[in-house]
Amino acid sequence: MPPPPPPSSLPPRFLPSLVSCSMRATTSASTAAAAAAAAYMTSPAGGGNGGGGRPLRYAVLGAGFAGLSVAWHLLKHSPRVRVDIYDENGIGGGASGVSGGLLHPYSPKVKLLWRGGEFWKESMDLLRSAEQANGAAGSDGTGQEENLIWRRQFLSCLQSCSLQVLDSDEAQCLVPGLRVPLNFAVYMPLALNINPKKYLQDLFFACQNMSGEALLSSSEQKECRLYKEHIADLQQFAGDYDSIIICLGAKASSLPELTNKLPLRNCRGVIAEFQLPSDTVETYGSQSPSILSDAWLAFQGPRTVSIGSTWQWKSENYSSAVSDDEALTTMEELLPKASVVYPGITKWKFVQARAGIRAMPPVTSNGSFPLLGCLDNLIGKRSNCSFWLVGGLGARGLLYHGLAGKLTAKAVISCDESLIPSEFTYWKEP
Ligand SMILES: Cc1cc2nc3c(=O)[nH]c(=O)nc-3n(C[C@H](O)[C@H](O)[C@H](O)COP(=O)(O)OP(=O)(O)OC[C@H]3O[C@@H](n4cnc5c(N)ncnc54)[C@H](O)[C@@H]3O)c2cc1C
Repeated sequence: MPPPPPPSSLPPRFLPSLVSCSMRATTSASTAAAAAAAAYMTSPAGGGNGGGGRPLRYAVLGAGFAGLSVAWHLLKHSPRVRVDIYDENGIGGGASGVSGGLLHPYSPKVKLLWRGGEFWKESMDLLRSAEQANGAAGSDGTGQEENLIWRRQFLSCLQSCSLQVLDSDEAQCLVPGLRVPLNFAVYMPLALNINPKKYLQDLFFACQNMSGEALLSSSEQKECRLYKEHIADLQQFAGDYDSIIICLGAKASSLPELTNKLPLRNCRGVIAEFQLPSDTVETYGSQSPSILSDAWLAFQGPRTVSIGSTWQWKSENYSSAVSDDEALTTMEELLPKASVVYPGITKWKFVQARAGIRAMPPVTSNGSFPLLGCLDNLIGKRSNCSFWLVGGLGARGLLYHGLAGKLTAKAVISCDESLIPSEFTYWKEP
């Protein structure tokens, strides 16, 4: 069952378009990872295995929001480390690259989510790091035009962080042509929407930059590599790493070691992209926010908008490609909803549709949160390598990825699952 869309009696909400233990204590206190962790805990540098010995070696499976966040935090918090990232499709090849890029810490009823402020802060920190790497790439003349769009959006979001209730006139000042049926709208100046693929590429640059910076230090050694490879099972290279962190999104359950062991439900979502024809003089204002309602409209510049999203539970279609039939069904579902709040959408032309699969975690009393933790007991430990999960980011991966990645990286480096709050590890309890 999809999460309930906001009842039609609710006002449209809109965003600025300016515009992420020791489990192993059971048996393995003397494993390579534990030894490495001991070095981490006792290092004179105080922040990792700064003392000699070989660098810690981690494999991160998946280069989406979860994987790149974990990789970035592993690199940040270990002075001597090698992080190998594996993804069969490259950076942002799963749901993350497809997503609408909407980021805010509120529920559909505009209530701050559980730990919403903390999730928000950690994701903003990562965005900032990616933004800095983006600036470095831009100064080399790489992708500069796209960089500017992303930077302008990012800087704008720093201006204000509160919710504002607006009447129809005020709302239409922000978004000319907006329809506000109940003369009531909520403006989230803190919210933003980003270009997710661009962001992930920048975050990967940020990981690589950390390797480059470590070259200048005598006490640090950091490496980060990306391998475009399919992972068929976990044992294929377990002996090579101290820990493997599984960040495969909806496909985590397809690993033989995890089949039927994760409480995740998959939900396919399709997004339709529209553009304003070049002969249309009037464009979408660069300072106008994106719009959240029964459908959301995520504007990317003055002439491009993504409209989302559908919720197809139990779909067995894992393809990011969308057939003509599926695109048509998507348009029939989303366009009427978008037109209710933004009638001007009829002037825009359909360009393409794209799809991704959300890995939906169980609903708890606090809401739905990522599934984190050490998997050694779950899959049966067969080597010195330790296995961890960052999964179930659901429909809010951009909000959750910063904190989920940070908590997991710290727990992995310390070999101490208790560093992760139990709200994220409860799912493993019998
Ligand atoms: C249509 C849609 C719109 C969305 N919009 C938003 C939004 O606006 N804001 C928001 O916060 N969230 C949004 N989400 C949710 C968000 O996309 C997810 O929460 C997030 O992408 C999950 O990130 P992840 O890294 O866990 O998974 P993924 O991004 O799916 O990453 C997993 C990676 O693993 C790789 N992989 C999988 N299996 C293998 C294998 N066997 N071998 C090698 N590589 C493999 C894949 O190629 C992929 O790159 C949306 C989701 C959908 C479907």
